[in-house]
Amino acid sequence: MTDTATMAGLDPATLPDVLRLAGSPGFDRIQEQLRRTGGCTDPIRLTGSTVTRDATTGQVLHSYSTDTEPGGVLRVACGNRRASRCPACAWTYAGDTYHLIRAGLVGDPAKGTPATIRDHPRVFATLTAPSFGPVHNRPGNRPCRCGTRHAEDAPELGTPLDPDAYDYAGAVLWNNHASELWRYFTIYLRREIAKRAGLTQKAAREQSRVSFGKVAEYQKRGAVHFHAVIRFDGPAGPDDPPPAWATLDLLTDAIHAAAARVEVDVPPSGDQPARTLRWGTQLDVRPIRAFGDGEDITEQAVASYVAKYATKAAETTGTVDRRIGNKEALVLLDVPEHPARLIAACLDLHPLYPDRKLRDWAHMLGFRGHFSTKSRRYSTTLGELRQTRADYRAAQQRAALGLPDPDDEEATTLTLAHWTYAGHGHTPGESWLAANIRRDLQASRELAREALLDLRSEGEDW
Ligand SMILES: [Zn+2]
Ligand SMILES: [Zn+2]
Repeated sequence: MTDTATMAGLDPATLPDVLRLAGSPGFDRIQEQLRRTGGCTDPIRLTGSTVTRDATTGQVLHSYSTDTEPGGVLRVACGNRRASRCPACAWTYAGDTYHLIRAGLVGDPAKGTPATIRDHPRVFATLTAPSFGPVHNRPGNRPCRCGTRHAEDAPELGTPLDPDAYDYAGAVLWNNHASELWRYFTIYLRREIAKRAGLTQKAAREQSRVSFGKVAEYQKRGAVHFHAVIRFDGPAGPDDPPPAWATLDLLTDAIHAAAARVEVDVPPSGDQPARTLRWGTQLDVRPIRAFGDGEDITEQAVASYVAKYATKAAETTGTVDRRIGNKEALVLLDVPEHPARLIAACLDLHPLYPDRKLRDWAHMLGFRGHFSTKSRRYSTTLGELRQTRADYRAAQQRAALGLPDPDDEEATTLTLAHWTYAGHGHTPGESWLAANIRRDLQASRELAREALLDLRSEGEDW
């Protein structure tokens, strides 16, 4: 890692610190700490100690103190889910989301989701925003309405053909109410299902459950849309087969009907007219199959797709990943015109709709919801997954520090721990080392995932 070839590109400020670290007695230990954080870009630094004693004799069985660590600190991963803040920790989060969505599709008996849910009717639905004005796009083989054939990564894609005529206020108010639109959709969906089954809502609920796992994604134009796995279960949840009437066709049909019924009224205020917000007409509903047959979506593809978007937040639209309080900041941060106009619309509308908190969510282009949510019975929770991983990490950490497993020795030993926050971040040299570790880890993970996708990717050209 510290050979001259890889160090050649180092900037003059980083090089002396890398050399200092490489020559320090704790170098191996620093590298090990950074590897344990997964190459986190902004680790938390802790100082402190733990002492484990035999409960009866008082004899010290194990002790650990950060005094012996390089620089006197232990580095712990920051855990931020945003790729723009910490690519390493975002990778971990994407992995968790992948397992969460996948558990709801193929089952995870260890976490109480049985494999029989693969037989339950389930679809992958995409609910979009309506149009707020024509934008530059790539309509199949034809040129864009502006007459140009835009390249796949052209920066103008998704930006308005005529920014002055674009409904920026409507766009951010729609994002701001997107979670309400979703909530009404789930209420109407249950009604539409009952209606099609010829049952009262109460009777339908006694015979079946509908569960959801969804993520929000930003389209290039800055509008939020939702991808959701929607599944029929029996009345007791994932373990229970759905009734015979709960078919794929009935579910698909009910989704279309429910989405078309949703309306959220926004009252007039100041120079803003009254608005009725609805879903866009582009509604995609596809059955999910265990393996692809060319038409349907596979379980694997759905989980990968959802996980990919879980870490992206709004940054893909060109906005920034932190709060913005005023328009001057947009200039200072050099935000591109389209997202800057969306953010400015949030700031302008804030005093007209104070309870919508548009200023707080301006950097999210008005959207205030969660990125990945699920109904209670969909699958295991992110919290449970994190706990499992935290337990695993803690066990690794304990092994590295020579500490006992608390489950083994709890009854007979007493552990005293004391930890203090000692700041966060890296020195320039540590930052360089962490980046190298991150690159190595990511390369090996991607190889592993590609191998998996290759095995299952037949007919996934959606
Ligand atoms: Zn991190
Ligand atoms: Zn165009």
